[in-house]
Amino acid sequence: MELTPVTDLPEIRPGDDLAALIAGRADDLGLGLEGAVLTVASTVVSKAEGRTANLEDYAVSGRAEEIAARIEEVAGEEKDPRFAQAVLEESTELLIEAPFLLTETRFGHITVNAGIDRSNVPDHDLLLLPKRPTESAERIRRGFEDRGYDDVAVIVTDTSGRPFRHGQRGVALGWAGMPASRDWRGERDRDGRELGVTVQSVVDELAAAANLVTGEGADGNPAVVVRDWEFGDLEGSDELFRSVEDDLIRQALREWRFE
Ligand code: GDP
Ligand code: MN
Ligand code: MN
Ligand code: MN
Repeated sequence: MELTPVTDLPEIRPGDDLAALIAGRADDLGLGLEGAVLTVASTVVSKAEGRTANLEDYAVSGRAEEIAARIEEVAGEEKDPRFAQAVLEESTELLIEAPFLLTETRFGHITVNAGIDRSNVPDHDLLLLPKRPTESAERIRRGFEDRGYDDVAVIVTDTSGRPFRHGQRGVALGWAGMPASRDWRGERDRDGRELGVTVQSVVDELAAAANLVTGEGADGNPAVVVRDWEFGDLEGSDELFRSVEDDLIRQALREWRFE
């Protein structure tokens, strides 16, 4: 497989048509979009969708005051209660409130600060994640299709931390034109043993690979074309975010919080 950045995209503005901009640049660069997977950083999807905010937009609730005070107490670092308020408004559940905020976003992704970003955001204090990243991915995919590029799969990515390990990596927030995962159950290993549990989250793996190409700073490469990667003929599934009933770690966190 081959991963190539779509270079020289402009600073993305509210209302920009990402499919048009990316397709135009991909053409100039001679990157064949047809049949490829296109990853796009949620940062630019959010910018195009106008998901910016300023701290002064937020009316601070008692809960946000409480959280900011707890973080100051536990982490010894100043926390703006308006930022805590922004995180609360993007979230459906608070999993950890100090020393950092871990929440479930409205679309089911669990991440620190509801994925609110303060880097690569000119003119505003905050960049919120896209409201519904799978719908964003589908809109971009359709934009390609309307321009005559068939069979383009789109993955909206973000950089995110993980439990148990240091460091961050790319993850998929939304996807279109391909399933989220590929089911190896029932396949055989080299000894003929049947695989019982392996469901490979291919959208996350592609997001992580693409994140190596985008970088995290000033590179200016939010989109990556992945060519010569095949989903293959295994079964696919669109399950990515675990529900709480299906997630022992979250259940344990709930118990720990309410002890
Ligand atoms: P995130 O992982 O979605 O939070 O995005 P990052 O902030 O890590 O940015 C990913 C890549 O996109 C980096 O190479 C940034 O320099 C680039 N980037 C961010 N915003 C823009 C933009 O508006 N235009 C362009 N051309 N690149 C951008
Ligand atoms: Mn960022
Ligand atoms: Mn981000
Ligand atoms: Mn990033």
